Amino acid sequence: MNTTMANVSAVQKNPKVRSNLTKGCRIVLDALEQSHELSSAQDIYGRLRFIDESSPGLTTIYRSLEMLVSLGLVQAVDLGDGEKRYEVVTPGEHHHHLVCGNCKKSTHLDQCLVEDIESAIHKKYGFVIQSHVLELFGICAECKTQDK
Ligand SMILES: [Zn+2]
Ligand SMILES: [Zn+2]
Ligand SMILES: [Zn+2]
Repeated sequence: MNTTMANVSAVQKNPKVRSNLTKGCRIVLDALEQSHELSSAQDIYGRLRFIDESSPGLTTIYRSLEMLVSLGLVQAVDLGDGEKRYEVVTPGEHHHHLVCGNCKKSTHLDQCLVEDIESAIHKKYGFVIQSHVLELFGICAECKTQDK
């Protein structure tokens, strides 16, 4: 289950998917696609305002993000600092991140590490897991090298 940027865009650029979206959603989706970093609503707002002063306001951006998340086109990521970040994903899929505490860069994992654990838990406890959150915090290889 590899999530490459190329196939993500192919789905999101699909005219049929796009034509069902509100204008706000399309603008926000485009802004997220152009950035390969996790972006907060504020980041998106700032970036859009920088290009075009008549771009949507913060409320519209929040609303559009919620809509895109509920459609499965965008995933929300909680890095534990109280501000949600967003990114484009293959519809219905999700992935996790390695977040460097030094340079704040996040590495996108191409695989969900939790699925095996979920089935083990289901076997042991009979518990049906519907969702999970997993972001891993530490120091990236680059920062670690500079540290020496
Ligand atoms: Zn780093
Ligand atoms: Zn990601
Ligand atoms: Zn997962």
